Amino acid sequence: MNGKILECGICFESLDSKQIDICTELDCSHLYHDKCLSQWCKTCIKDNNAPNCPLCRKDISKDNLDELGIDFTKKSKSEILANSVRLFQHIMTNNMYLDRPSLVRFIERYPEEMDNIIMMLEGIMLLDLISFTTENLIIP
Ligand SMILES: [Zn+2]
Ligand SMILES: [Zn+2]
Repeated sequence: MNGKILECGICFESLDSKQIDICTELDCSHLYHDKCLSQWCKTCIKDNNAPNCPLCRKDISKDNLDELGIDFTKKSKSEILANSVRLFQHIMTNNMYLDRPSLVRFIERYPEEMDNIIMMLEGIMLLDLISFTTENLIIP
């Protein structure tokens, strides 16, 4: 703390040194009340965004999120893809694709993987359709 006037970047209340333990300083050195910041993070996550600094939009580090008790891990593209394959296999092994409504409910729980899963499902449905028609053609 280098003598500058500090205020929470969300509610703009000034922060004195007594309050420092209920505040979080982000890597970008912007400062917030814990309660203001965690509320903001929850809003970001609800909107499907990675929590970022409200002032400069820099992503908030995992350490800061842990301290705030916010559970958000941004997955990489390859992680999302690996997850999609795993979920897709789960759907196939459990024949979940036979029950459309519960299949949709299941997929909706994974917004990041949703598009991949749907693409894979469409691929399979198409294959099924082709093999079905071919069988019909072959068997007299
Ligand atoms: Zn505040
Ligand atoms: Zn910032």
